[in-house]
Amino acid sequence: MAEQTYDGRAGDRSRQLLARASRLIPGGVNSPVRAFASVGGDPPFITKAQGAYLYTEDGAKLIDYVGSWGPALLGHNNPEIVEAVIAAARNGLSFGAATSGEVEFAELVTSMVPSLRGGMIRMVNSGTEATMSALRVARGFTGRAKIVKMDGGYHGHADILLVAAGSGAATLGIPGSAGVPDSVVADTLLLPFNDLEALEAMCKAQGDEIAAIIVEPIAGNMGCVPPDDGYLQRMRALTEKHGIVLIFDEVMTGFRVAKGGAQERYGVTPDLTCLGKIVGGGMPVGVYGGRRDIMETIAPVGPVYQAGTLSGNPLGVAAGMATLRILERDPPYEALEVQAAKLFDGLAARAAQAKVAFTGNRVGAMFTGFFRDGEVHNYDDAKGSDTERFGRFHREMLARGIYLAPSQFEVTFVSTAHDDAIIETTLAAAEEAFAAVAAN
Ligand SMILES: *Cc1c(COP(=O)(O)O)cnc(C)c1O
Repeated sequence: MAEQTYDGRAGDRSRQLLARASRLIPGGVNSPVRAFASVGGDPPFITKAQGAYLYTEDGAKLIDYVGSWGPALLGHNNPEIVEAVIAAARNGLSFGAATSGEVEFAELVTSMVPSLRGGMIRMVNSGTEATMSALRVARGFTGRAKIVKMDGGYHGHADILLVAAGSGAATLGIPGSAGVPDSVVADTLLLPFNDLEALEAMCKAQGDEIAAIIVEPIAGNMGCVPPDDGYLQRMRALTEKHGIVLIFDEVMTGFRVAKGGAQERYGVTPDLTCLGKIVGGGMPVGVYGGRRDIMETIAPVGPVYQAGTLSGNPLGVAAGMATLRILERDPPYEALEVQAAKLFDGLAARAAQAKVAFTGNRVGAMFTGFFRDGEVHNYDDAKGSDTERFGRFHREMLARGIYLAPSQFEVTFVSTAHDDAIIETTLAAAEEAFAAVAAN
């Protein structure tokens, strides 16, 4: 008989650990999105993960839709990936010198992502490092200072990007960040996502001073918000016209919505691409790369400095390689599409049944259900959601063993381990959770 999932709320052990953690680690967590500040309750502490499940310190088995915030596309503890890491570890954890694995990794990544074909990449240790490095390169290449990001777009926690930065900060009600001087973000310009007129006006007014536009081609950190028809195409045309480096931040969407990411799905090729999450198979890996002429401005070939003691380390390379090889060999994208649609459509149907205002967006194996009516095309629309109701829904789901990201402005991630039975269990829990929300 299959094991049952059950109440995933923090029990005694998790609460004791949180108390101990909070004395030594701000908020008891090493990344703020892990706190349950906006949904109420305490986070369960995790002991292990397998497939679609998380196991907690209190003995609960949860169905997981966070997937380590994206990397776990192939389910947790995938044996092929884990074995590759163990084999690499036996040869030493880090050399600080070049390895054949990095060459193979570079060959594989550049063959899979359209904008990297014929170009170059650099490996780093996180998505944050990828985006901040890509922007430095864009500034070095163009000799221009200004950069453009989207309102509600998140690209990691580099100073220059911590303006209207979406989910993590939005959840905590922090507009930008303390500790970021105005002077550092003076050249960071903001645009509303999916607003072509604003984009055209900005390019017309100061296009020749802008080094780069960085955009999540499918916004994922204001909740899931896909680009409107033609938006990315027009952005591509305008950036080309003005000599602006177009950077797709595909840290979330890369290898998730298609093998070649959102750029493959929408047929728009940026100049530079940032990768993270899935590309490291669960290890701390980021990648940035693209046009050869731009990447050749990086040291030691060119004058833009970027470095990393552990960059391209053998364990990260092994996990990433194993992941990408599986994606090449057995592309999971059609199956993911089917499973994610079943779940997303099933949630919408149950919300409607309970008469709970609920709308949303899904692209492949990522989606967000927003607790509001109407459509969500940008950050303002997302912010119109009823976060109280989301919080209630989150608590009700967790009490039924379903682990969702603890924020309305995050994405639900479906993995290849989410089979029909798991999705049915989730939908049965959701039916009760929506009823509880409606009764409130
Ligand atoms: C997660 C994320 C980042 C940051 O990656 P880290 O590895 O957390 O530094 C950057 N951009 C996007 C789109 C992300 O989703």
